[in-house]
Amino acid sequence: MNITENAKNIIDNCRFCWMCRHVCPIGNATGLERNTARARAFGASMVVRGATDLAEIADNLYECSLCGACTNNCVTGFDPKVFIQQFKTELAPEGLMPDYIRVLLEKYVQSGNIYGEKIPEMLEEIYCDGSNVFFLAGMDAMIKAPECVKNALTLLSQGDIIPAFSGNQDTGAALNFLIGKAEETRAAALAFASYVNRYKTVIVYDPVDLAFLRHECREWGIEITPELISFNEYLLTLLKNENLTVQKGNCEYTLQDHFAYARDLDDTVSARELISAVGVSRDMLLCGKEANLAGHLIMAEYMPEVIWSVAANRWENARNMECKTLVTESPTEYVCLKATCPEGYRVLSVEEMLLENI
Ligand code: SF4
Ligand code: SF4
Repeated sequence: MNITENAKNIIDNCRFCWMCRHVCPIGNATGLERNTARARAFGASMVVRGATDLAEIADNLYECSLCGACTNNCVTGFDPKVFIQQFKTELAPEGLMPDYIRVLLEKYVQSGNIYGEKIPEMLEEIYCDGSNVFFLAGMDAMIKAPECVKNALTLLSQGDIIPAFSGNQDTGAALNFLIGKAEETRAAALAFASYVNRYKTVIVYDPVDLAFLRHECREWGIEITPELISFNEYLLTLLKNENLTVQKGNCEYTLQDHFAYARDLDDTVSARELISAVGVSRDMLLCGKEANLAGHLIMAEYMPEVIWSVAANRWENARNMECKTLVTESPTEYVCLKATCPEGYRVLSVEEMLLENI
């Protein structure tokens, strides 16, 4: 197996101290010890030492959302993402990939996305070009949250630039989740780079895409030449330059920090500034760098009940603090929270929140 020394060191760094055990959103949803960071390290360690087969931990690799909550709480800097992604890349050549992952990959080959669905016509109808700024919605939003994409573009059209928008929305981030740094993932990322490098700026809607483009693609030597700016940051710029005008009221909004914004991109501020522009920011528990996962669309394809429990647990955090309106900064969490929203509560995307205050 091609497991790097860095990955082996990370696995060995786990002291099995249990400190991270309470923060794993998947472990909290299933109540199973195998779904904790500690157990994942133990399984990986057994494989590296030859005490068990890679096949034995294959399912457990795909039960990790890569949210990094454990890393954020670990004194040793244990980061499961590093070894889990390497193990995933090893699974396919050895014929050990779980069938439910194989199905998603087949759908990707057939349709261009892992959901096997067509891009909705309502989005194809609003494709446009003629700007050196491109709006990257990402495939999760295009397929599973097209209303978010439409709202985001409506909001952006209030500014002085109407961004270009097309069906070229696959960065390779979904393949990266499924098979890590495999040839297919690199090919998707390279194809995206060759398309998007004609633009000067790319506004990135989904923080998972932004983290993938900024971190993995850079690490793999894939050149992305446009400036990459997060959707939140771009909206803040529009507000600061008075290209977008909103009304400030007294409505309380609670940000559902997404782990990619909070931890991978180190941004826990921009969405709160957007909230402060239109209302009052009110935090719940496990926010900011401690961000607790509220859903995962890819994982919902093969372990839906667990993912709906993850979202329901997040609503429990909101209810405990009487936070009535959650504001999401990721399409995947928007969909999962919306599907599990309790009566008397509501979930808004960042763009919906701003649009209701124009
Ligand atoms: S990952 Fe870190 S916090 Fe969790 S058991 Fe291992 S050493 Fe402890
Ligand atoms: S990255 Fe997230 S899902 Fe994976 S073990 Fe750590 S806390 Fe659990």
